[in-house]
Amino acid sequence: MKIHDVTVQLREGMATYAGEEPGPVLDFHSLMSEGRTANVSALSLGSHTGTHVDSPHHFLDNGVTVEQMPVEYMVGPCYVMEYAGEGHITAVDLEAARVPAGVTRLLVKTANGRFWDEDAFHPEFIGLDDDAGPWLVGRGIVLIGIDYMSIERFHSPAHAVHEALLKEGVVILEGLDLRRVGPGEYFLVCAPLPVAGADGAPARVFLLEGAVG
Ligand SMILES: [Zn+2]
Repeated sequence: MKIHDVTVQLREGMATYAGEEPGPVLDFHSLMSEGRTANVSALSLGSHTGTHVDSPHHFLDNGVTVEQMPVEYMVGPCYVMEYAGEGHITAVDLEAARVPAGVTRLLVKTANGRFWDEDAFHPEFIGLDDDAGPWLVGRGIVLIGIDYMSIERFHSPAHAVHEALLKEGVVILEGLDLRRVGPGEYFLVCAPLPVAGADGAPARVFLLEGAVG
């Protein structure tokens, strides 16, 4: 079995959404180099930093929060599709990708991956177009992932994709680094931290290849 870690490393100075969200900070309040018996730090970061899930509460005030999201949606067989286009991904593009029947967890690999090498935020990233949300819901998708910081285009006026997915309880997995995996079937392990009351939380995500599904 091969383990692909598709998580982005969390580090100070990394790109964050619109360059506005607070990025990771490790603040050491106990240091062995200063004579203390252990190194201990406080970690802070925005809830949508790096590889993370969105909970329904992100755009729906009454929606469930991260610790209530069903782990069954986040662990199981998944399919990675590759999108070679340059525009935002429409329902027609998803249809053309010929995702195998029965797939309920779908990760979309685009040209976005190249942006992870830079600390600057790239607003021109590829996201899902408005009609992709209902298409995914209609297909019975329970988890959708993408390889940059948002599932939908930058400054989408109504956040239609987020809303269409979150109101159906679909897990949105953002900030994946899929550069080292090809399209095909894997076993997904997506493990967000169960932060009580949170609108989103960082996740460690593995794609297992050759695992028993
Ligand atoms: Zn998010």
